[in-house]
Amino acid sequence: MVMGSLPEQVDLAVIGGGVGGYVAAIRAAQLGLSVALVEKDKLGGHCLNYACIPSKTLIHIADLFHEIRHAEKFGISVSGAALDPKKMLEWRMGVSKKLENGVAFLCSSNQIDVFNGAATFLDSGRLQTTRGVTLEFKHALIATGSEPAVVKGFEFGGNVIDYKQALMLDYIPKSMVVIGAGYVAVEIGTLYAKLGSKVTVLARSDVLSHFDKDAVALVKARMAELGVTVITGVTPASRTQTSITLSDGRTMDADVIVVAVGLVPYTDGLELHNTKVEMDEKGFIKVDRQMRTTDQKILAVGDVVGEPMLAHKAMRQGVIAAEVAAGQNSAYENRIVPAVIFSDPEIAIAGSIEPADGISVTKFPLSALGRAVALDSRKGFVKMAYDQDKFVQGVEIVSPEANSMIAEAALAIEMGATLEDIADTIHPHPTYSEAVQEAAEGALGRGIHFFYGKQPKQA
Ligand SMILES: Cc1cc2nc3c(=O)[nH]c(=O)nc-3n(C[C@H](O)[C@H](O)[C@H](O)COP(=O)(O)OP(=O)(O)OC[C@H]3O[C@@H](n4cnc5c(N)ncnc54)[C@H](O)[C@@H]3O)c2cc1C
Repeated sequence: MVMGSLPEQVDLAVIGGGVGGYVAAIRAAQLGLSVALVEKDKLGGHCLNYACIPSKTLIHIADLFHEIRHAEKFGISVSGAALDPKKMLEWRMGVSKKLENGVAFLCSSNQIDVFNGAATFLDSGRLQTTRGVTLEFKHALIATGSEPAVVKGFEFGGNVIDYKQALMLDYIPKSMVVIGAGYVAVEIGTLYAKLGSKVTVLARSDVLSHFDKDAVALVKARMAELGVTVITGVTPASRTQTSITLSDGRTMDADVIVVAVGLVPYTDGLELHNTKVEMDEKGFIKVDRQMRTTDQKILAVGDVVGEPMLAHKAMRQGVIAAEVAAGQNSAYENRIVPAVIFSDPEIAIAGSIEPADGISVTKFPLSALGRAVALDSRKGFVKMAYDQDKFVQGVEIVSPEANSMIAEAALAIEMGATLEDIADTIHPHPTYSEAVQEAAEGALGRGIHFFYGKQPKQA
């Protein structure tokens, strides 16, 4: 590694060591490129350190704590179950650290030069880090991610915190108000309710308003059961260190106010004006299907290039960008990006289940599934959308383990599978995955474990 003023020459300089950036760096190294990775904070980026992994770690702990205390129906009663928030935080931080170390190990194993510091473009062929390293690159890749959006009057500070801080508390707040209605607001609100906070979610219109109403109804009913109050049609007006006042004049306790109103692309400090990279009106970097920006030598991936802002999309784009930098003719042409909301119950979606011309939608309820009855998780379903030629176009799963089950649907849609392909594939019993098979069978008029009404006789 060359330090000081002598520029180091690399085939690919990656800016940002999050899931988009480090995946691209590893793929590029596999293809024989010399790679430098510049990260100003922690390897693994937001996903591993502040967002996906920490939130799912805490959701698991909250679920476990809640289940332990509510298992009487299974004949289990536990008295004195207690939570140690400091230990919980220790575990959550330890998980991120292990994964961060894992990324560092993979980088060094692949002979990727990792530079700590923030990168700034000097021009379309050179960048500099805050630690004084200059890199001359054949290609650069911007993978700088996103940052939490701010609500006017509720800027971060004091008891107003963002998702990162909400996932790093070493105590359980007595009262928590979550401003926001998307999946992050629902995940954080639900997990703290299970840990014992009195949670209120403030939604301008409704929670998860862009999602299927049937699925959202189940999530909202469960939130109500857990004591989460969802207030719609209001905006936050003012606050003190312990309370919040709403636009309708109501005031409520708020030890902590979590602002979770979305993510905005992060390009601060890159000095993109020194390059030909262009952004759209929302600040996302413009890219083509090969992840090339408007500057021939510079590529970009992940949250910084637009929706959906999801880790698995960033990783896929990272692979494409690396292959393009290595001269391959790769392109980001995936038909769908599956999405999971780790709510209770989980919602997972691949493709579209919107009714449309030539599209039919079938629904199989979990109440008809042996596994769901056994585990008392009957409130859920699988919806499957298919076209006139019976090609699967979309699947929505509302169920425990939906997060893993949706991969089958994603594969089916990518491969152009038909209803028969799914229905005739043997799914192991007794599992939640059978619900996907059952939905396909139902669509074909040959559902076994749910009575869809009298079907015409089949030859
Ligand atoms: C609470 C929460 C939960 C989430 N859960 C999920 C989930 O379950 N599943 C999912 O798919 N997605 C989830 N997401 C979204 C996911 O976190 C992002 O889509 C993903 O992290 C984007 O990856 P990225 O590589 O584009 O950016 P990031 O992971 O944000 O990484 C960008 C990196 O670039 C670095 N950087 C920025 N500027 C510079 C610079 N100038 N020089 C050097 N380094 C720089 C940053 O320090 C950062 O490490 C969640 C988001 C939130 C907020």
